[in-house]
Amino acid sequence: MVSRVIPVDVFDLVIFGGTGDLARRKILPGLYRRFMAGQMVAESRIIGAARADLTDESFRQQVREAIAEFVPKARQDATAIEAFLERIHYVAIDATGTNGWAALKALMRENVVRAFYFSVAPSLFGDIAQRLSENGIADAWSRIVVEKPFGRDLASAKALNEVLAKHFNETQIYRIDHYLGKETVQNLMAVRFANILFEPLWKAEYIDHVQITVAETVGVDGRGAYYDKSGAMRDMVQNHLMQLLCLIAMEPPYHFDPDAVRDEKLKVIRALKPVTHEDIVRGQYGGGKGEKSYVVHSENPASRTESYIALKVQISNWRWQGVPFYLRTGKRLRARASEIAITFKQPPHAIFDDASGWHENVLVIRLQPNEGMNLMVMIKEPGPGGMRLMQVPLDMSFADAIDDAEDVPDAYERLIMDVIRGNQTLFMRGDEVEAAWAWTDPIIQGWEARGDKPQTYDPGSSGPEDALMLMHRDGRRWREIRE
Ligand code: NAD
Repeated sequence: MVSRVIPVDVFDLVIFGGTGDLARRKILPGLYRRFMAGQMVAESRIIGAARADLTDESFRQQVREAIAEFVPKARQDATAIEAFLERIHYVAIDATGTNGWAALKALMRENVVRAFYFSVAPSLFGDIAQRLSENGIADAWSRIVVEKPFGRDLASAKALNEVLAKHFNETQIYRIDHYLGKETVQNLMAVRFANILFEPLWKAEYIDHVQITVAETVGVDGRGAYYDKSGAMRDMVQNHLMQLLCLIAMEPPYHFDPDAVRDEKLKVIRALKPVTHEDIVRGQYGGGKGEKSYVVHSENPASRTESYIALKVQISNWRWQGVPFYLRTGKRLRARASEIAITFKQPPHAIFDDASGWHENVLVIRLQPNEGMNLMVMIKEPGPGGMRLMQVPLDMSFADAIDDAEDVPDAYERLIMDVIRGNQTLFMRGDEVEAAWAWTDPIIQGWEARGDKPQTYDPGSSGPEDALMLMHRDGRRWREIRE
């Protein structure tokens, strides 16, 4: 099966922070891949805007180097790269001053989609929004894309929403959460709502529990000072894990339409029960054996910031009554693996005896590596050995379903194309972000007020010991973290 590529409208995309790390690693290489795929039509343009005093040519050289470093060699086509670079321009701009805004205005074209990617620190969002509108660079059809973190608590998220709302309508604001751009995450909605098979079972009556794991092997080296002010709860749970939880738990929207989907996600966030302190385990990776610990990486010997968190979350509504959602995420863990696992209950009456080898049905949605889904089902073990059961996966991996998995766009590519199409379904709405912080704030305030210290865990392990207990005391076990 070959994936279809539908070209998007002609656009001028301005990347504020075009010389930054995110632009270099993700946004610019991603746009090149969309250009290669024929989705970015040739008349479209990309305009880098940042502080450095560069010419078009010197910025193009930076883009050339970014493509060389971050696009697989097999996809690097010299002719295509040069054609792509012709679509690239640069404006030196001061987000907080007056320099560069007239030049940017002069460069923008009429009658094309105008999109502005704020790939800069959130403290600059307000300044840029204000200058775009005051200088008449953004119009009522323009879109802005804002990066994470969207606030560090409810008050700061509200302040950011208010500042953006002064210059843009909600329908123009695209708050990016790249987890929503992942193929599998979107497939979760297709599997749930385009099949009759799963939805009847998707409730407390048939589901025992849900596990969401986002495990990383990297530590915070290089960005320790930033991370130390954040921690796993703010950096991962409030946004990425919360979004995954919403897609699993939400009611079927009346239509696959941005507000219908986001309304349903919002209802889930609002139905989350407050988490008690017994249902949270925080961890911080230690060092030793040549490994540097979290406090060394963060350069803060007294740090109480968590690089790992596990929590048991409950949703107060009919569908999910009594079904725990166990969430965990951490750095310096044994493998880089992200997955959602939905464990179903036992059949109401067991006809096979205890020695038969029975296991629960589990639907595993893998986000990385090897995006795909597996449905673990029981069959009879082949052969004449009597009625023994064995668990086998019904494997739905995308690499097999699509001719050339390398051509599957990554999350950023997909989301940027959605911005150009004007489709906000996979972007967080302002009220969703605020509701997520409203749930997160008291949890963080609780441990800050008590002065809780995270538990140390070994680098390369599965996390702190107490996280195992979070499941064991409920008679359940975490799935193994493995690639
Ligand atoms: P960076 O520090 O590498 O780049 C910052 C960019 O902002 C540079 O291009 C710089 O010239 C520009 N800039 C700074 N001050 C400016 C000013 N006054 N006027 C005009 N331009 C100015 O940052 P980054 O890592 O690329 O991150 C950008 C945004 O993306 C941040 O909000 C960050 O939280 C978010 N983000 C980054 C990553 C990542 O992997 N790097 C991942 C997720 C989210």
